[in-house]
Amino acid sequence: MTKEEILAIIEKENVNFFRIQFCDINGFMKNVAVPKSQIEKALDGKIMFDGSSIDGFARIQESDMYLKPDYNTFCVLPWRRRNGVSAARIMCDVHKADGTPFIGCPRVNLKRILAEAKEMGFTMNVGTEAEFFLFKLDEKGNATTTTDDNAGYFNLDPEDTGLDCRREIIETLEEMGYEIEASHHEVAEGQHEINFKYADALTCADNTVTFKWVVKSIAKKHGLHATFMPKPIFGINGSGMHTNQSLFNLDGTNAFADESDPLKLSQVAYQYIAGIMKNARGFSAVTNPIVNSYKRLVPGYEAPVYVAWSTSNRSALVRIPASRGIGTRVELRCPDPCCNPYLAFAMMLSSGLDGVKNKLAVPAPTNSNIFDMTATEKIEAGIASMPSSLSEAIEELKASPLTRHTLGEHIYEKYIINKEAEWDHYRISVTDWEVKEYLNIY
Ligand code: ADP
Ligand code: GLU
Ligand code: MG
Ligand code: MG
Repeated sequence: MTKEEILAIIEKENVNFFRIQFCDINGFMKNVAVPKSQIEKALDGKIMFDGSSIDGFARIQESDMYLKPDYNTFCVLPWRRRNGVSAARIMCDVHKADGTPFIGCPRVNLKRILAEAKEMGFTMNVGTEAEFFLFKLDEKGNATTTTDDNAGYFNLDPEDTGLDCRREIIETLEEMGYEIEASHHEVAEGQHEINFKYADALTCADNTVTFKWVVKSIAKKHGLHATFMPKPIFGINGSGMHTNQSLFNLDGTNAFADESDPLKLSQVAYQYIAGIMKNARGFSAVTNPIVNSYKRLVPGYEAPVYVAWSTSNRSALVRIPASRGIGTRVELRCPDPCCNPYLAFAMMLSSGLDGVKNKLAVPAPTNSNIFDMTATEKIEAGIASMPSSLSEAIEELKASPLTRHTLGEHIYEKYIINKEAEWDHYRISVTDWEVKEYLNIY
């Protein structure tokens, strides 16, 4: 999109609230809104903000930062139209006061890793499946973990009370330019999934953070609370964000496809899978970033626990969906929707490229259900587990040689400080479980 095309839409839609957005290191979308009179200034990247007030960004002495918009991310916000006046948004890269890109901005950082892939002759395509719950609000308007919805996997209405809300989410996304491929009720009560078409990694990261914002906003309109928390309820499925990914050659062909191979997968695909598996424990603190993430990665709920790959079963960390040709892809099943997609895609890409660069050999696929294997069978097959807590994941992140380079020094340091503080806060908290378990018996 060009500046002129954007200005024409702004005129036609009577946009008077222009939201200029970017993401912090935790993947939270931030924005500043400007009125019509300031829109040109915003489009020219002349809006400044105080970087020192954003988690993990700049230090006080270098706090003046610019927001450089990416014109392709401009869109009108269908749910913010009021009395003939519209709102629109645009995503930005954060730049320093001297006009150069700020390496602490996750979007800028992803571009750096994508440029490395391009040097090797590849682009990355990504399709995310961010699952979420729709919960009721209590009489004070606070979020609960209850739902009226008793439906299960692929069920139809009338059990599915989230259906009207889901429909409006889809209509809104379509109006914003998303191509919706499918939507369905997920396995757990109150749990949903909406799939939109894959795109290049940067666009998909923008689409994923925007998707979460739209889901939450439309749910609120329906008097519901949408949450992407990985495991809101013990004993039922949690919410994952399976990340489908493929490398394309610069001529637009899928670099993972090879008709002559028995599984129709190329050497690049096998090496990419090997790289992902080698680095999975190290990137877990990025793909599964919060304390609660590790309550999801347990046996029995369709979430992966073991570092294995498979062409069929869903207990493996990496699954190869049946689709071939242009749709040949790797589905990484561990990420959850709390992750910062800019950082998570950078970690996955760099891990896969590590496999390609070093021609890593992939272990044999595990096509049996790993949860049914004994501990000895798993050891014999060389199957490792994912970290079982955020604390273990942080230690793995620190030990991973790939991480510092992939996140860049600035994000790497801030991210670890941030996550260690989160873990420490949890470690010293007294949970409901402890009170229930110990109060009476001790
Ligand atoms: P499944 O049900 O098999 O887990 P879905 O059909 O729900 O998967 O989602 C598949 C996702 O993969 C969609 O976002 C789709 O656009 C995406 N996808 C399709 N082809 C590719 C590809 N070549 N590279 C990356 N993602 C892809
Ligand atoms: N909700 C499951 C998870 O936590 C995934 C279910 C599915 O296969 O779609 O990953
Ligand atoms: Mg699903
Ligand atoms: Mg999936």
